[in-house]
Amino acid sequence: MIISTDGLVLREVLYRDSDKILTIVTRDRGKLSASCPGGRSKMGSMRAGTQLLSYSDFTLFENRGRYSINAAEPVEMFMQLRKDILLLSLGSYFAEVLETVADEEVPASDLLTTGLNCLYGLSVRKKPQLLIKAVFELRVMMISGYAIDVAECPVCGSDEPEDPVFDIRTGRVGCSACFGQENGLIPLRGESLNAIRYIHSAEPKRILSFSVDEKSAACLADVAEKYLLHCLERDFSTLRFYKSLL
Ligand SMILES: [Zn+2]
Repeated sequence: MIISTDGLVLREVLYRDSDKILTIVTRDRGKLSASCPGGRSKMGSMRAGTQLLSYSDFTLFENRGRYSINAAEPVEMFMQLRKDILLLSLGSYFAEVLETVADEEVPASDLLTTGLNCLYGLSVRKKPQLLIKAVFELRVMMISGYAIDVAECPVCGSDEPEDPVFDIRTGRVGCSACFGQENGLIPLRGESLNAIRYIHSAEPKRILSFSVDEKSAACLADVAEKYLLHCLERDFSTLRFYKSLL
């Protein structure tokens, strides 16, 4: 069966002389692996559209759950990322996270859109990297069922917690006095709390359309990364590499 879908290349593994196997997050079929005969060859028509972090329109041939790529027409190659090792390594981390949270045969439109918007944000360089990284992490966690509970303090019920703190183990935000001296609490600045609320509720195209001061951005980045690593219970080699470059 022939299938057409758009998707983002999350991983490429080379094999034989000129072939490769791709992991792609697709809008219609979620995460899938597809063989790509001739995808490595310099003259191959599919070379551009099948590179890591290429966003392409794919034509796939499916046979009993196995996919091979018939055509890959690049839509956006994120060329600015490919010229900068720091941006490319952060983009690779986004890819590894998407590969972790996307499921096979489950449509992944929200994940794909979030990944594309954040990669685009990195490539135009108008927002600080750490802010884009935090937005990506928090939005992906929300889509994956791990939204931070920012509605009210679970102890006193206040919808504007006083000296807000974030409990990484429960994913809840409350007043510093209400939560006491528990382990795993991270102080949240008010502006960071409002940013989390914005990131959770914004239209997909608008997720980066806000600003916070530098300290609040750093606080947001700290919360987002720690929370993602806590929820997914794993380490990311791409994140370690990105941080080694900073
Ligand atoms: Zn409270």
